Formats: sequence, structure tokens, C-alpha cells
Amino acid sequence: MAIDADYRTALEDLIKVQRQLSDDGVAAALEKSKRGGHLWMFFEQPVLARDARIYIYHLAAKLDVQVKGTGLSEGIEIFPKQDELRADEFGNAIRAPLGVHRGARESRGWRYWFYGADYSLGDQLAYLNGLPKMKEDHLRRMIDGKTLPQEFAQRARRVERPKYFEPKQEEFRILDYVTVRRQAGRNWVARCPSCAAAGHDKSGDNLAISVEEPRKYCCWAGCTKEMIRAALGRPIPERRLA
Ligand SMILES: [Zn+2]
Repeated sequence: MAIDADYRTALEDLIKVQRQLSDDGVAAALEKSKRGGHLWMFFEQPVLARDARIYIYHLAAKLDVQVKGTGLSEGIEIFPKQDELRADEFGNAIRAPLGVHRGARESRGWRYWFYGADYSLGDQLAYLNGLPKMKEDHLRRMIDGKTLPQEFAQRARRVERPKYFEPKQEEFRILDYVTVRRQAGRNWVARCPSCAAAGHDKSGDNLAISVEEPRKYCCWAGCTKEMIRAALGRPIPERRLA
């Protein structure tokens, strides 16, 4: 499990969490990142994502450390981000420990180190290997009788149409026009209307719609927004010239 934090007081919060984990008898390793860090904890055997998430949510609440989500733009992010996934679904990704950064140009190719050991691969791996791993029954004891706060319960599978900001009258909402098949990471997956009109996308997974911002969507087969809107009978109005 990993806790990602990248805001102004991120390291402070991660160190607080790390200390509390330590008081609970759990070793966690703090890895640098561009702004803030990742706090990793390891398990002796695979455990349920839900159980591990319950533990960290309650630990954060106890420490007054904010968890990102439900309206908060800042806070720690807990990976895995979903309580459960089906075989064909994907959770959110996080850079693996000691992985080489593939993202933002200024940090591409960098490796971020753990604070707990010298900055060489050998020392770092020895440090990680030497960390005690949390046992499943220990985790169970820590969350005994606890559940995930309702506002943080996250299911990968979509059970109802997502709600988002009150739309302006007339505003085009892609979710009013397509049937979401499933969630994949941060996106809803649906059949692309433009592909469908051409008899394509039979598997119904070309269209990705951002869960957080459903105004953003794209077709993996390359249909433009104009094509998708036209296929739905809601063409993008041409801008009128004065
Ligand atoms: Zn398409």
C-alpha cells in the first residue's frame, strides 16, 4: 500500500503517518517524490485492498491528516484507490518503488530514493528487503469493528450515473447520451457514438470519459469531439461572427 502526498505540508503529514504506523508496530518506508513523497508499507502476504484502506483512513482521521477526495483538493491519496476491482478493471497507477520517473519533462529519467538508506540501488533494496512486513492478522486487529467512512467508499464499478456540478441549461453532457459499461482507472468506458455510427467499436470501449470531469472525453480510435457531437445530433455550434 502506498500513500501519496504532494502539497505544501505533504512531508510533515507523511512523517506523522509514518510515526503513528510505527507506534502501531508497522514499518513504513518514505520515498521522495517531486513535491512531497510516497509512504510505502508492505505486507507479508496479499491482503484485501479494502482492509488496508480502512486502516489508513482511520489512522489519518485520528491524526487530523486530510484525505483527498470528496471536495478536498489537498490531502493524502491512498493506493490502492479502489476497494475492489473486477478482473477487467484497472485501479489507479502509482510509480513503483525505485521506479524511474516517466512523467513530467523536468524529472523524466530520475529515480527517487528512500530516506532510510544510502542512495545506491543496492543499499536501497537491502533496506526495503529488511523492513518487517505487516501480517494479515495484525491488520485485522487494527481495523477490528471499523468500516470505511461512507464518503470514501470507492467502488470501481459504476452503479449509478455520476453526479456532477449543476449543469447550465443547454449544456451538452456526454453522459446523457452514452451507456457507461464500466470504470477503468479515472475514466468511464463507453461505446464511441461516432465509431458506432460507422459500425465500429463493437466491444464498446473506445470512448473514455473522465470520472472527475465528465466534460472531458475522448475516443481512442481518434474521433474528434466534432465527430462525436455530430453523431449524437448535437453538433458543436459554429461560433457566430459579429
Ligand atoms: Zn470513435
